[in-house]
Amino acid sequence: METPLSCRNYIDGQWLSAAAGTTLESRNPALIHEVVATFPRSQADDVDTAVTAASQAYRSWRKVPAPARAEYVFRVGELLAKHKEKLAQLISQEMGKPLTEARGDVQEGIDCAFYSAGEGRRLFGQTTPSEMPNKFAMTVRMPIGVCALITPWNFPMAIPCWKAMPALVCGNTVILKPAEDTPACATKLIEIFAAAGFPPGVVNLVHGMGEEAGKALVEHPDINLVSFTGSSETGAFVGATCGRTHKRVCLEMGGKNAQVVMEDADLELALDGAVWGAFGTTGQRCTATSRLILHRDIKEKFTTMLYQRTSKLRLGAGTDPDTEIGPIINQKQLQRVSEYMNIAREEGAKVLIGGEIAREDSLKNGYFFQPTILDGVTPEMRVAREEIFGPVVCLIAVSSFEEAIAILNDTNYGLSSSVYTRDINRAFTAMRDIEAGITYINGPTIGAEVHLPFGGVKQTGNGHREAGTTALDVFTEWKSVYVDF
Ligand code: NAD
Repeated sequence: METPLSCRNYIDGQWLSAAAGTTLESRNPALIHEVVATFPRSQADDVDTAVTAASQAYRSWRKVPAPARAEYVFRVGELLAKHKEKLAQLISQEMGKPLTEARGDVQEGIDCAFYSAGEGRRLFGQTTPSEMPNKFAMTVRMPIGVCALITPWNFPMAIPCWKAMPALVCGNTVILKPAEDTPACATKLIEIFAAAGFPPGVVNLVHGMGEEAGKALVEHPDINLVSFTGSSETGAFVGATCGRTHKRVCLEMGGKNAQVVMEDADLELALDGAVWGAFGTTGQRCTATSRLILHRDIKEKFTTMLYQRTSKLRLGAGTDPDTEIGPIINQKQLQRVSEYMNIAREEGAKVLIGGEIAREDSLKNGYFFQPTILDGVTPEMRVAREEIFGPVVCLIAVSSFEEAIAILNDTNYGLSSSVYTRDINRAFTAMRDIEAGITYINGPTIGAEVHLPFGGVKQTGNGHREAGTTALDVFTEWKSVYVDF
């Protein structure tokens, strides 16, 4: 790829600059003097052009038979597979995640394409008995209209695909507003949608700042649905605005996920889960393990094992094949993670390892933070309650399974959760009692399969789920039809 990539908006089948002509840039977080892309700083007038195009295209796209709509999405899957390695390289360069994880990010998009394409032949409704003679009654799914898809930077391919693919198969038109940190990833993804041959206006891309382009989209009267993934703070604004302007809204927000390790657990397995869950993607996953709830009987032994493994993790650029932990996304987020170290110390937690910005020569040109274990954390501390979104895990000691589940649930969030135990009764109790959208037994808090519902409870979500058949409930409305004969 030529660097920097000059990105544009994609509206009505055309690649366009922002009307005002202003641009922003994204940088490689592992090498911050490297500009990866320039992109339009779109404003309300650019958003309006995109909404007009998407509204116009919706009139005919909704009438294309669903199996035919699905064929376009299937082609996107084929093209993503063809370009998988190049796309993964770009993710590593622009967002910083190690290549193996970046390949997984693209693979999620591919899996979602083929799964969603299948839904084109399965947009089932129901026939149902009527109370009346000579009457048929049935339900059909209808598309919703123009969907704004607002996405974060941490899964720059997978999350837009998770939204766009079911939305399109269901007969909606879409406008993607990607995160400011990953415009090149979004551009390359939409180039693939364009190459798949969607009619003009069906798929649109508007770059820009959240408070400008994002806000204008959420407020636009002709947007029918907003599907948002990002922080709970932004989600609260998006949800309130959609409520005020009568839009359907699907919110996927933050997490404060816990892994419980009981005294009867397979500790090696639990260790793999904890390291991967806490430090994978540099802890910048909504499903990251940020609390490790450890039974006192194994706490010391497990902490030593975790310390040893953490001390060997290799930091580096995502594009370097030896890297296990990549950079933090940007300066602001690096600062935020650093500030949490002060908060932790002030509250009485102990930094067991890490706790600092990495200063080695090979890392000093990037936003690197040492993988960090905070010990002696208690459930009321801010570091145990607030989403840090970095390579930081808090250790909390408990004396019983009941206490572990109570602490796991004692959070405003409810995305993912995990319990390591060999006791089948504890496993089933956890499945029943944990307040979260996802529960893993003997697996880490991270990971997702595209045919299962994904999302969370409490301040993580607003009751919707992405992926699987639940995505169809986001992107369609039900209509009841009665036919007298
Ligand atoms: P963010 O909320 O800062 O930004 C997300 C998106 O919203 C970006 O595209 C941004 O430009 C846009 N935005 C910002 N302000 C806006 C506004 N006023 N109006 C409209 N749009 C606006 O989040 P982020 O830093 O990009 O992502 C990290 C967060 O995302 C974390 O909290 C993480 O837990 C969450 N996340 C959740 C999931 C999930 O499925 N639950 C998945 C990934 C990330």
